[in-house]
Amino acid sequence: MAATSDRYFRRVGAVRPSHLMFTSGVGALVDLPNFAVLVRGLDDWDTGPMAGYVPLTEPRLLKAVQGTLGDTVKQLRPAPWMPGIDSNPAGPASKVGVPVMPFPSWMRCTVCDQLAPLDSQIFGFENDKARKPHDAHFFHADCPRKRSGRKPLAVPARFVLACNDGHLDDFPYVNFVHKGTGCPKASHPTLKMDDRGGNLGANVALMCVSCGEKRNIRDALGRRGEENLPRCRGRHPHLGTFEEGCERDPKVLVIGASNQWFPETLSALYVPPTDAGELADKVVQYWDQGVGSMPGREYLRYSRENVPAFREFTKWSDEEIWAAIEQRRKILEEGRPEEKRRTDLRTAEWEIFTSPKEPEPSDDFALRRDPDGVPAELKEIFSDVVQVERLREVRALIGFTRLDAPDPDEPDLVKRAPLAKDRPTWVPASEVRGEGIFLRVPERLLQEWEERVEESDALDKHREAYKRFRENRQSDRLPAPTDPMRGWPGARYIALHTLSHLLIRTIALECGYSSASLSELIYSGTEDDPNRSGILIYTAVPDAEGTLGGLVSLAEPDALVRLTRRALADARRCSSDPLCADRLPEAPEDFLHGAACHVCLFVSETTCERGNRFLDRRFVVPIDDPSLALFPAVP
Ligand SMILES: [Zn+2]
Ligand SMILES: [Zn+2]
Ligand SMILES: [Zn+2]
Ligand SMILES: [Zn+2]
Ligand SMILES: [Zn+2]
Repeated sequence: MAATSDRYFRRVGAVRPSHLMFTSGVGALVDLPNFAVLVRGLDDWDTGPMAGYVPLTEPRLLKAVQGTLGDTVKQLRPAPWMPGIDSNPAGPASKVGVPVMPFPSWMRCTVCDQLAPLDSQIFGFENDKARKPHDAHFFHADCPRKRSGRKPLAVPARFVLACNDGHLDDFPYVNFVHKGTGCPKASHPTLKMDDRGGNLGANVALMCVSCGEKRNIRDALGRRGEENLPRCRGRHPHLGTFEEGCERDPKVLVIGASNQWFPETLSALYVPPTDAGELADKVVQYWDQGVGSMPGREYLRYSRENVPAFREFTKWSDEEIWAAIEQRRKILEEGRPEEKRRTDLRTAEWEIFTSPKEPEPSDDFALRRDPDGVPAELKEIFSDVVQVERLREVRALIGFTRLDAPDPDEPDLVKRAPLAKDRPTWVPASEVRGEGIFLRVPERLLQEWEERVEESDALDKHREAYKRFRENRQSDRLPAPTDPMRGWPGARYIALHTLSHLLIRTIALECGYSSASLSELIYSGTEDDPNRSGILIYTAVPDAEGTLGGLVSLAEPDALVRLTRRALADARRCSSDPLCADRLPEAPEDFLHGAACHVCLFVSETTCERGNRFLDRRFVVPIDDPSLALFPAVP
C-alpha cells in the first residue's frame, strides 16, 4: 500500500492483492505494526499506466455489477500491484499500491500519554527504510518525558465511531471529555489518555490538562454511549465526505474489531456461452426491433422472412424462440429487472453444467464426464456427476458495510457504503482459478420428496422461523412492510445445501483440504426454472493448497462412492445429539437451521454461500421421522 500524501510516506506496507478485496478493501481500517490506515476510495487510486494492471474480462459479472451500481461501471480492475518489490524495494513497484491514509487521526504518545490529532503537528513521521515499510511510525518529537536519544513512539488512539449506515469517524475526544461542550480554558486544549489496555477499553481515562476535566471511556459504551455521544456526522473518511442527515446512533469501535468492515461482493464463474444463453441475449438485443412485439408463435414464420432482426435467429427453432420471448416477457412483467440481473449470475452456469455435451475445453473452463456415467451405487443419489477440471472465478467488490455484514437474503437491509464519490466507472476485482465437482440430484427424487415434506411440521417450523427472522431483522431498518416470505429459498434449497455441507466436510476430513479453501454454489429451483437441482463444490482461492486435480479426482467412481457413503452415514448422528437432532426453531426463536451445528454441518464463513443458514440433516437422511429424508436409504 502507498500513501497519497507525500508528506508522510510512499510505501507503508505490503498486502497481497487478493487480500485487498476481502479482508481490507476500500473503506477498511488496516492495522499496521505501528499505526492504522484506512484504504481510500476509488477516486484516489492511481489509474495511470504505471498502476500495473490489465482489466479483467468477465462480461456476465460486469453486467451484474452494472445492475447494482449503474451502467457507469465499465471495468473490473485487479488491485494495483507490480512484481519486483523484493528484488528492488525502491524501484517502480514501490510506487504502485493502494492509496491509504492514517486513520484514526488521533495519536497518543506512549511515554507521556499526550493525545492529539495528526494535524496538530505534534507528531513526526519516520519512514526511511525502503526495505522495511513496516517500520514506518509516528513519534512525539518534543516529548517532555523523553529520555536519552530515542524518540517516543506515538500510536493510534484506538477508538473510533461507526454507525449502521457505514459511516466512520474519529472519536470526539475534546467534546466527550468536556461533556458535550468545548474547553472553558483553551481553544485547543491539551489532552491526555491513560490507556491501561483491556479489550473494551473499560479502563481508559481521558483528561484535559488545560482545565482539569476528566472522563472515562466507559461513559461512551453501550447504553451510556447513546446518551453521551453526539449524533453521527455522516462521515466517509475514505472519500473525504460527510453525508447529511444520518439518523443512526454512532457506536464505539476499537481498531481491529472485526465488524469495522464487511465487503459486499459479486462473483461469477467464467462459462462459455451456451446456445440457450446466446438466444436469451439475442432476444434482449433485438427486443425493440420486432422481437418484443411478436403477437404469437404462428407469426414467427412470416417474421423470419420479412423482419430483418430475425435473420439473427436462424439457428433456433420456432419453439425455442417463442419460449425465449415468453421468458423475457415474464421478467419484464414482474417489473424487477434489476434484481433479476443481480441474481441471474447462476443461470448461465447451470445451463453449461447440465448441457449434455461438454463445451470445448479452454484455459478457463473444462468439463469432463466419466464415460460410464454415474456409478451404479449412486444412481438414487445423483443423476449426473461432472468433473470441473478447470474453472476461473472473478469476484468484484461493489461496496461495504459496517457493524452488520451485508445480508445475501436481503440486500437492502444493511446500507451499502459507496466506493467512490460519484457513480464509479470501475470496481476492484480479482480472479482465481481452480477446479471442482458438479453433482446433480435426480429431479424425480426431489419432486417426490417435496410433496412429502411440503405439509410437514418440520418444514412449517422453518418457514415460521424465517418470517420471524425477517420481522426481527427488519423492524427498524426497512420502512415499508414487504412480503414476509420474500427471499425464502424453499425446501429444495435446504436439502441441496445440507448435502453440499456434508460433502464439503467429508472432503476436508478425507483428503486433507482445509474446508476454508473449498467453496460451494447451490443451483436450486427458481421461479423461472423450478427444476434446478445442482451443487458445485470447488476450490478457487489464491495460492490454493494441494495440487490441481486433487478435488476433481474425487469425482472418479470409487472415490465418489466412498465419499458419499461416508458423508451420508456421518449425517445420521452428531456428537451433540440428541440436542442437535431434535433442534427446530420454535417461536420466538428465529435461527434458520434445524438439526445442524458446528460439530456436524457448519463450515467456515468463506465456504458457505448463505452464512450457515438453511441447513437441516433431517431433510437429507433419516433422523427422527424417516419420511422427511431425501435419501431414506444410505447406499
Ligand atoms: Zn510524549
Ligand atoms: Zn478542558
Ligand atoms: Zn451515520
Ligand atoms: Zn450437530
Ligand atoms: Zn453453505
